Amino acid sequence: VKRNPHESEFHQAVKEILESLVPVIAKHPKYMENGILERMVEPERMITFRVPWVDDQGIVNVNRGFRVQFNSAIGPFKGGLRFHPSVNASIIKFLGFEQTFKNSLTGQPIGGGKGGSDFDPKGKSEGEVMRFTQSFMTELSKYIGPDTDVPAGDIGVGAREIGYMFGQYKRIRGGNEAGVLTGKGLLYGGSLARTEATGYGAVYFVNEMLKSKGLSFDGSTVVVSGSGNVSIYAIQKAVQLGAKVVACSDSNGYVYDKDGINLETVRRLKEVERKRISEYVNEHPDAVYFEGCQDIWTIPCDIALPCATQNEIDDVSARRLVANGVIAIGEGANMPSTLEAIDIFLNADVLFGPAKAANAGGVAVSALEMAQNSMRYSWSFHEVDDKLHEIMKNIYRNSVNAAEEYGHPGNLVVGANIAGFLKVADTMLAHGII
Ligand code: NDP
Repeated sequence: VKRNPHESEFHQAVKEILESLVPVIAKHPKYMENGILERMVEPERMITFRVPWVDDQGIVNVNRGFRVQFNSAIGPFKGGLRFHPSVNASIIKFLGFEQTFKNSLTGQPIGGGKGGSDFDPKGKSEGEVMRFTQSFMTELSKYIGPDTDVPAGDIGVGAREIGYMFGQYKRIRGGNEAGVLTGKGLLYGGSLARTEATGYGAVYFVNEMLKSKGLSFDGSTVVVSGSGNVSIYAIQKAVQLGAKVVACSDSNGYVYDKDGINLETVRRLKEVERKRISEYVNEHPDAVYFEGCQDIWTIPCDIALPCATQNEIDDVSARRLVANGVIAIGEGANMPSTLEAIDIFLNADVLFGPAKAANAGGVAVSALEMAQNSMRYSWSFHEVDDKLHEIMKNIYRNSVNAAEEYGHPGNLVVGANIAGFLKVADTMLAHGII
């Protein structure tokens, strides 16, 4: 805390991991030696840079760009870019730190990184988004490459932004290094099923948790927060598995549709027209719109999938969900539950799928995109989706087994943290003190 003042999100992420490593250290003191933990919480490199751009009125704006290259023990740095006004060093470091363990859990050779900017894409014209994104990549291009650091999308960075960034990277560096970014369009090296991967993966993970208790999505009532990339495809897969999704949100408010959210309307509003979720009720008069996001968790549901942003479920919301009989939580977003909320869920025996495990499907398919780029070949949608499904089942199994082995049966927070940690720590030991 002394060394990283004012970085509350980063402290929160580190605290969660370190606490769950207690039984590992007790069993294997070697992880306390060699500075493993001290090295793990210090990024290999943190890059901060100026991003100047000219808006449509001819005024010069300056944003701040970040890339944290957190840990490359098991492969090139890998992790998304977030464009949101709340982005700062703490947010980027918590995301990069978490990403290291998540990427390890996927079983693929990818290290942890993250980046982004405090640029707010909302209300910006196409030209402004392009000029900002090109300026951002002009600096970032000095630090990334298909074998060193491979960014992708995150909040505020979707196919459009990745396309502009790839164009600018290509213009600066020449050649055609498709593997430098993932989440690319299908016309220029993207992978089928990457768009769907995080949302689908989260639902596959929750499905494994439900199956362990003889339950399923079929006939369940689900609440999903957010209406972005992760949310949309979590809704789609949950509905395919027989659930009714009754609510979703954006940063202004949420819609409740007792008959089930119409996903085509949400997709058009958010993906094509880039409008607010409040407009949903204009087309579905039986649905209701509520200003503010927090109360979405007061809606009774069997399964809650927080897919918007960090700390969106606090202790009050967690108690509400438990009182309303929630059975399972699947974290589609990164760190959407506070530490207090997680305790409440675990103490109430709610099935809890932590972000590191439950939302790892996105980066897993990003690694499959890198593999396809290297092979100069593409797999069909079903091939990628099948591999994703298998990866999510493995992550679930490895988390369950680690939780069991280290004395916390059923606690997937501890299980995922330990399973992710061991591979990175053993690799760091093998590489010596670097
Ligand atoms: P998008 O930008 O596509 O969507 C984000 C959604 O969350 C939007 O509906 C947005 O509303 C809402 N939101 C964003 N910030 C806030 C906030 N501060 N309060 C309330 N709502 C907010 O992002 P993604 O779907 O890609 O990402 C969502 C989460 O999933 C993030 O935590 C991200 O780190 C995580 N994630 C994403 C992966 C991916 O593959 N995309 C992979 C793994 C994790 P609005 O439209 O109003 O901004």
